[in-house]
Amino acid sequence: MSEEILSNLYRIAVPLPGSPLKATNSYVIKGIERSLIVDTGWNREDCLTALVSGLKECGVDYRQADYFITHMHADHSGLVSALAGEEAKVYFGWADAQITRSTASEHWEDQTDFAQKHGFPGDELEKALGSHPGRRYSSRASLNLSVTKDGDTISIGDYVFKCIETPGHTVGHMCLYEPSKKIFICGDHILVDITPNITLSSEDRNPLKEYLMSLDKVYDLDVELVLPGHRSIFRDYKKRIRELKQHHQTRLNEVISILKKGKQNVFQITSQMTWDINYRSWDLFPPSQKWFAFGEAMAHLKYLEEEGKVGREAQERGVVFYIEVSDA
Ligand SMILES: [Zn+2]
Repeated sequence: MSEEILSNLYRIAVPLPGSPLKATNSYVIKGIERSLIVDTGWNREDCLTALVSGLKECGVDYRQADYFITHMHADHSGLVSALAGEEAKVYFGWADAQITRSTASEHWEDQTDFAQKHGFPGDELEKALGSHPGRRYSSRASLNLSVTKDGDTISIGDYVFKCIETPGHTVGHMCLYEPSKKIFICGDHILVDITPNITLSSEDRNPLKEYLMSLDKVYDLDVELVLPGHRSIFRDYKKRIRELKQHHQTRLNEVISILKKGKQNVFQITSQMTWDINYRSWDLFPPSQKWFAFGEAMAHLKYLEEEGKVGREAQERGVVFYIEVSDA
């Protein structure tokens, strides 16, 4: 179903069956010759049907459209290979484009080694990665990407969007800001009903630090309407940014208080943190949700490690353990 939000700007909610995210918001800006479609949905039949029928309602032909993908995750990028015509531009942030171009099998092997090093049990890891939507529903064909950078502009109809790099949720995450309309299409950078997942998947990054910097970077934009990648459209932009920063501060404090009990690996720490999900205990979490939580805990530990507040102890059988570093 499509919904007109502003003149020639529509939202289509593409359902994500079985995901707590419920749906991906695909935004459609209708132009005269070509239209722009921002984000798509998983590469599976029910998503395709929903998006194509929504586009029909808006009077947009997906073969006469260009695509802007806020970030590489399969719930945003998955369907684009099934939709984009030969002449279509597929805009993609440069850093995510680089990852998308690297071979997928290498990516998943690295993830496995990394998770085992931080205590994720092997049998659960297999289940978590086997059912991972990023693995099952990503784009099949290799795409000819139009790489975007901070400050690039994209014009469509009456809209002139400025591309803003917002690393954090992914390393190459991009948002679109339309200053004259005061709208901000922000992918998974800012969500209102849920908090965006900030996850660490390789040692050389500090995604939580990047994310908090990206929140500060966009705080002063003059925004009246926020169009996020999932759930509700909302208005109180600055308030939500402040809440997200506070949320991460609370989590950082929680990790420190867990480490006061003594050295632990990341999987053990994750199991004691507070997660906003409807399962009574950690043991009942499906492996895929344990995986997301684990990545998020990892991101918080990396942040604290770089701040000098936690440290690593000698590894036990290849698994890394963390300790609190006291101020004294
Ligand atoms: Zn995402």
